[in-house]
Amino acid sequence: MNAPAKISPVTLAKLAKLGIHHRTDLLLHLPLRYEDETHLAPIATVQPGETVQVQGVITHSEIAFRPRRTLVCRLEDGGGELYLRFLNFYPSQQKQLAAGKQIRAVGEVRMGYYGREMVHPKCRAVDEDTPLQQSLTPVYPTTAGLSQPILRKLIVNALETLPLNDTLPAELLKKLKLASFADCIRLLHNPTPDIAASALEQRSHPAWRRIKFDELLAQQLSMRVHHRQRSKRTAPRLAPHQQLTARLINDLPFALTNAQQRTFAEISRDLAQPHPMQRLLLGDVGSGKTIVAALAALQAIENGYQVALMAPTEILAEQNYLKLRDWLEPLGIVPVWLSGSLKKKDKQIAAEHIASGETLLAIGTHALFQEQVSFHKLGLAIVDEQHKFGVQQRLALRKKGTEASSVSKFNQTSPELSRMGEEDNAVSPLKLNSNEPHQLMMSATPIPRTLAMSYYADLDVSIIDELPPGRTPVITKLVSDERRDEVIDRVRTACMAGLQAYWVCPLIDESDTLQLKTALETYQLLKDTFPDLRIGLVHGNLDSAEKLRVMKAFKAGELQLLVATTVIEVGVDVPNANLMVIDHAERMGLAQLHQLRGRVGRGAAQSLCILLFQQPLSELARARLKIIFESADGFTIAQHDLQLRGPGELLGARQSGVAMLRFADINADEDLLYQARHIADELLHEFPDAARAHLRRWMANKHDYLYV
Ligand code: ADP
Ligand code: MG
Repeated sequence: MNAPAKISPVTLAKLAKLGIHHRTDLLLHLPLRYEDETHLAPIATVQPGETVQVQGVITHSEIAFRPRRTLVCRLEDGGGELYLRFLNFYPSQQKQLAAGKQIRAVGEVRMGYYGREMVHPKCRAVDEDTPLQQSLTPVYPTTAGLSQPILRKLIVNALETLPLNDTLPAELLKKLKLASFADCIRLLHNPTPDIAASALEQRSHPAWRRIKFDELLAQQLSMRVHHRQRSKRTAPRLAPHQQLTARLINDLPFALTNAQQRTFAEISRDLAQPHPMQRLLLGDVGSGKTIVAALAALQAIENGYQVALMAPTEILAEQNYLKLRDWLEPLGIVPVWLSGSLKKKDKQIAAEHIASGETLLAIGTHALFQEQVSFHKLGLAIVDEQHKFGVQQRLALRKKGTEASSVSKFNQTSPELSRMGEEDNAVSPLKLNSNEPHQLMMSATPIPRTLAMSYYADLDVSIIDELPPGRTPVITKLVSDERRDEVIDRVRTACMAGLQAYWVCPLIDESDTLQLKTALETYQLLKDTFPDLRIGLVHGNLDSAEKLRVMKAFKAGELQLLVATTVIEVGVDVPNANLMVIDHAERMGLAQLHQLRGRVGRGAAQSLCILLFQQPLSELARARLKIIFESADGFTIAQHDLQLRGPGELLGARQSGVAMLRFADINADEDLLYQARHIADELLHEFPDAARAHLRRWMANKHDYLYV
């Protein structure tokens, strides 16, 4: 056995960049692909596009100067010839590749100026007896300055010196028909020549499946452990007294849908538990989540606790505020409106009322997160459109507990997952004394089931899977920009006939300023074209009173046409509006298009959504428009979105640097995900030591960012 290699600090830093912090991490640093140097391809048979190893004699070597200085060598093996081309080369290389030399070259074959060629192949001098490699040569993910040979050497050393014991009990492996960890990991780092490189590269080989299973299992285990920890934390018991809630239900002008009743029952049951609820309420745009949130709020208020309701945009927060005020004021509950744009003094007053406990329900934007707002007795925090919130903000919310600030400090230093299992019995007195608020998160971005299972396994999920009755599906039309004038005419006709319409301005490179400019121009243009129409404009730069005024006017039917930036994306509810034009729809993401379209089709009248797009379309834009055209169901759209963009984008986690699954692909490996889910429970109950060892191997460097 080799002694562990001494690694320089420079190399250590580079390894850390790759997520390798311990020597054991090297074991799980698996190849991206392989080079096959185990056999020689006869030159006559190699085809462009193939990556092969060939051997022959250099029969001609020269430096060509057109189109630029290039070393060109002709390699012959008796059956055929192939050119090797080097744009950058050293004199030593030129010597190595002189006529008469015997050479082995590995590279991708292309059709070039001279015929079949390899550009910058990996070459070495050989003689007749030079042995071939015994296994495929792994190519690892790496970073600048860390060469493949160095990485390979470190990994080989780790494989030789570290224990490769299995974390899973033998009987479980047998039941699941999985090969041993040691065999799989050795094979992936060092595959024998009989294995097809394609099975390895497509990750369909049983060895890969074992590794992917392990990774998914680790994820499931850590979530279970986290879940258990949650049940050790305490929250106020908010029992359903059914006083205020019953009155609200009675006063509503509509009957709750079955899905609303069911989801509220689930929430109600959770609130009555002495552990913090962490529930995600999923429901398509317009499915009626707000009333469910209002009922949850009332249950907390009935118990004398405060409620915070937060939304990502001012417009949405205000709309929630107005809706809840209408519903709750008759019951004697006056919500407080808290936003970043309030005057300093008003903000201070609001904050004081929240701190004293006088205010039972606070509704607002991120301002609620700000340090200066502290609650007297926060029992429930509701986050609307939670996918818009960053992970950090959600963490901050969780820390807004009810009592001493020491509580939040404790939560802040949340333990690493690797230690979680061991902490099970160590109940801190702090935790026992502390009360965390319950959390209800709402999202209209339906998360595909597989994704929810994989990433939100720690959250309990309630799904509103039916729309309130009386809705007519929206008709969607794709119209090329060349027909813009026709679209403008159509908007006019609709407005003249007494309907209301939205005109959504293009999103420009995430730049608010540019989007504002376009919105102003569009507004002006439409005003000039239709002097007789009452047109409003709403965008992110308006102050909140102005925004509110415009939205109110539109809602009241005083405005016929509303020109808007994407600030209206989430939640805005004007049932009378039934025509929407989305300008430059090709620039928008699927979730955004779905959200926007959800603004119409809220009443009984037939609604129309026109997606104006500009040619030429990128492949991705074309795919997106096709999906949004063909499907109205948020879950179906989300499933496509997952395929187009991957889970990172969908969860909004990419920006926050959340590490996603490295090996498993929740689309392709759905079966493994289900299996891992199933086995996680068994392992925790029957083999807790194995579960702990497994978590240690896989989660040593991960924090609990995914579980907030
Ligand atoms: P979202 O789930 O998108 O937040 P909202 O809560 O804004 O949806 O509800 C959309 C509209 O449907 C609102 O006008 C709301 O008052 C109405 N609504 C909610 N529930 C029902 C119901 N059971 N019957 C009829 N209308 C309902
Ligand atoms: Mg909503």
